[in-house]
Amino acid sequence: MSRRRLSPIVALPFVLRLAWPIAVSADPVIVNDITQLNPIAVARVVTPRTVDEVRELVRSHSGPISIGGGRFSMGGQIATEGSLFLDMRGMKRVVAFSPENRTITVEPGITWRAIQELIDPHGLSVKIMQSYASFTVGGSLSVNVHGRYVGQGPLIGSVRSIEVVLADGQLVQASPSENAELFYGSIGGYGGLGVIVQATLELTENQRVARAVRKLPVTEYRDFFFSEVRASPAVFHNGDLYPPAYDTVTAITWSATDRPVTVADRLMPVRDPNWADRLALFGVSEMPFGKELRARVLDPLTLRDHPVVWRNYEASYDVRQLEPRSRARSTYVLQEYFVPVARFDEFVPRMASIFRSHRVNVLNVSIRHAKQDPGSLLAWAKEESFAFVVYYKQGVTEPERKEVGVWTRELIDAALALGGSYYLPYQIHATEAQFGRAYPRAAEFFALKSRVDPDYRFRNKLWDRYDPPPKPATAAGRSAEWKLRSLKNYARSEDQTYLTLPEYRFNWGYHAMIGVIGTSYSTGYAVSGLYEGSVGRLTEWFSRPESGAPETAEDRFIRGVATEYAAFIHATPWYEFPFAAKLRQLWAIPEVPGASSVRRWERRLSFTDELAFKSAWGWLMKKATQSAYDPEQSEILVWTRKPDGGPLQVDPPARVLDPPDAHSQLLALPRYEPFTAAVTKLARRGVRFVEIAGNRRILMTVIAARDWKDTRGRGERLVEWDILTRPGQKRVAISVAVDRLHEVIPGLEAERVKIDHIYDY
Ligand SMILES: Cc1cc2nc3c(=O)[nH]c(=O)nc-3n(C[C@H](O)[C@H](O)[C@H](O)COP(=O)(O)OP(=O)(O)OC[C@H]3O[C@@H](n4cnc5c(N)ncnc54)[C@H](O)[C@@H]3O)c2cc1C
Repeated sequence: MSRRRLSPIVALPFVLRLAWPIAVSADPVIVNDITQLNPIAVARVVTPRTVDEVRELVRSHSGPISIGGGRFSMGGQIATEGSLFLDMRGMKRVVAFSPENRTITVEPGITWRAIQELIDPHGLSVKIMQSYASFTVGGSLSVNVHGRYVGQGPLIGSVRSIEVVLADGQLVQASPSENAELFYGSIGGYGGLGVIVQATLELTENQRVARAVRKLPVTEYRDFFFSEVRASPAVFHNGDLYPPAYDTVTAITWSATDRPVTVADRLMPVRDPNWADRLALFGVSEMPFGKELRARVLDPLTLRDHPVVWRNYEASYDVRQLEPRSRARSTYVLQEYFVPVARFDEFVPRMASIFRSHRVNVLNVSIRHAKQDPGSLLAWAKEESFAFVVYYKQGVTEPERKEVGVWTRELIDAALALGGSYYLPYQIHATEAQFGRAYPRAAEFFALKSRVDPDYRFRNKLWDRYDPPPKPATAAGRSAEWKLRSLKNYARSEDQTYLTLPEYRFNWGYHAMIGVIGTSYSTGYAVSGLYEGSVGRLTEWFSRPESGAPETAEDRFIRGVATEYAAFIHATPWYEFPFAAKLRQLWAIPEVPGASSVRRWERRLSFTDELAFKSAWGWLMKKATQSAYDPEQSEILVWTRKPDGGPLQVDPPARVLDPPDAHSQLLALPRYEPFTAAVTKLARRGVRFVEIAGNRRILMTVIAARDWKDTRGRGERLVEWDILTRPGQKRVAISVAVDRLHEVIPGLEAERVKIDHIYDY
C-alpha cells in the first residue's frame, strides 16, 4: 500500500506529462551505457521524483517499461526498444538515517558517494558496495554487487529490506522475513520484477586502514589468502594479475589500524582524469611493453609506501577517473567470472590461455573473494568463490564485437566446468545454455516474474535475451525450458554436434585429441600387423588344423575380447575398456588338452603385452581427458512433447525421466552410436522433439544415391562426399532443426535415403 500522497503542485506537471500520448512520441530517445556500445531507442524517458509518480507511471503505461540507474552496466541491461524508460536518478533522497542503529533508508537513485558524504561525519561507512562510489543504490541492488571487502559477500548481505513497485502499481515491502521470494528475486533481478523504490541498508564503522602489498606466485595465492588475509583484520583486499604473464599476483590488503592517517582527506576528491591518467591508460593498453612497464616499474613505485587512510576514502573512487578521451573507435570494458575457492588454481591457466589465444588486450585482472550468497534467485556466488574481474579494451566494429563474444563464451565455459559462474551486468554474450548452467534458479525467477509481471512489462536487453515475452504458442513450454536448463547434465554446447566437420569452426583441443587417437590407433595397428605377420604366423603353424592340434583357448579368448572391444567403443570411450580385468582372465584360462603349447605361450605373452600396454596408456589418456574436459556423460537428455495418447514408452537403455511439465516428456537416450538408432526410432513413431541437450539444431549424415537432391529443404546441407567404397552413393551432412526430426527422418527414409549417423553433442 502507498504511504505517500501526491500534492496537487507536484501532481500538475506530472499529470500533464502522463497525459502526453507515449505511443505517438515522435522522437525516440537514445539511452546508452558507459561503454557506448549499446544505444537503445526508447519511446520516452521519464524521471520520477516520488514513489507515487513511479506507481502512477507503471499503472498508466501499457507497454514495456525499463529502468535505469547510473547506466554503468554494459550490455543494455537498462533498456529495450520502445519502452518507457524510468531514469531513477531523480529519486535520490535519504528517507531515514539512524547513526545509533547504523542503518540508512534511501531512495534508489542516490549514489554511494552521496551516502558517504552524509554518513562520514558520523564515523560510519557503507558495509558492502563496489570498488567505485559512482553507482546508484537501485542499480547496485538489482545487480547484487560486491566489492573488495574481506569476509563479505554480495550486497544482499547488508540489506534489511526493500520496497518494490510491481507491474500492477502495487507497492510491496520485502525482506528476508516478509515477501521473501520478492526480496531474493528483486535483489540481483536486473529490474525484471519491478521498480525498487526504497532500501534500508546496514552501515558499519568508518575505520582507519593501512595498506600492505605483497607480490607472490599465483600458485601460492590461495593459501596466502586463507592463511594471511581471511584470518586477519583485513578490510579490503584484491589481488592483481598482470598480463601478459598472469603468473604473479600483487596482493593489496588494507587492514584496520590505530595509526594516524597519512592522507588527510576523508573522501577521495572528485576530479576528471588528467593527462597523466590518460597517458597511463593509453600506454598500458597500446604501447609496446606498456604492460610490462606498469608491472615492473609504475605499480611498484605507486605501491611502495604504506599509507594509512580512512575506509571511506578508499571506498570513494569515482568512475570518471577511468574515462578515456573518446570511446568512438575502442572502448574499455569489464567482465567477471566466479569460481569456487577450491578451483582457483585450475581457472587461472585456462583463463590465461584463452586470453593469449585470442590476443585479448587485457589491462588488468583483479581477484576478489566473496562469501556464499544467502539465497538470491540469481546468485552468482553459489558457494564461497573467488571473482576474477577482467578490465580490457576492445574495438567497436561488428567483427571485433563478435570476436569478444567468442572468447567470452570460452571463458564462461571454463568457469562453468569448474562449478563457477559469470557476472550478468556486462555484455550479453552467453548462450542460453550457459546462462541456465550459471544461474540454475533462473526457472524460479522466471516463474516469479510471470506471476508478478504476467504481461512481461519490465524489460531490458538481458531479459529480452533469456526470458523474452512468451508467444502464446510457446507459453506452456517456457517454465519447462528453464527447469531443464537448471539440470546439471541437460545442456551441452551446440558446437559438439559439428565437431567431426572440419568445415565447421576449428577446435584446437578436439583436433589435437583426434590427432592423438588417430596416431595411437595407426601405430597400434602397424605394430600388431608386423607382429602377427611374422611371429604370429610362425606360431600359428603349430596349431594349424592339418597338424591335428585343437585351437588354443587363448586364441578363442583373444577373438572374444576383440569382438567385445569393437562393440564397446561404439558407445564408450576406448580407455574405459577393462583391459586389466581381461589380463587377469587371460591368465586364468585352463589349458586345452592337446593344443600347441608353443602357440599357447606365445599368445599369452603377446596378448599380455598388448593388454598391459593398453591398460597403462588408457589410464594415462583417461587422466589427460579428465583434466581437460568434464567427465564423459553416457546419456543425452531429450525434451519431447508428450504424445496425445499419453506418456511415451521407450526401450532400454533409453529411460523416461520426470517431466518438466504436464505437456512434456524428458528422455535420457544413450550417446554415440546407439543415439542414432534411438532418435530414428522415436522420429518414426512421430515423437515431436523440442530440444536435444538444450539445442534446437543437430547434425546428421545420410547416405543417398549420388544424384539425390534434397529438394524439400529439410535442413541446411553442409557438405557431401562421394563414398569411394560404394560407387553411386554419397554421404551428405545436414544440419536439421530438432523440432522437424519427426518429419525429416521418415521423409528421408521414404525416399530410400539411409540415416547414417546423428551426432550427439
Ligand atoms: C568502472 C566500473 C567498476 C565496477 N566495479 C564493480 C565492482 O567492484 N563490483 C561489482 O559488483 N560491480 C562493479 N561494476 C558493475 C556495476 O556494479 C554495475 O554495472 C551496476 O549496475 C552499476 O550500477 P548503476 O547504478 O549504473 O546501474 P544501471 O547500470 O543503471 O542498472 C543496472 C540494472 O539495475 C536495474 N535497475 C536500476 N535501478 C533500478 C531500480 N530502482 N529498480 C529496479 N531495477 C533497477 C536496471 O534496469 C539494470 O538492469 C563496475 C562497473 C564499472 C563501469
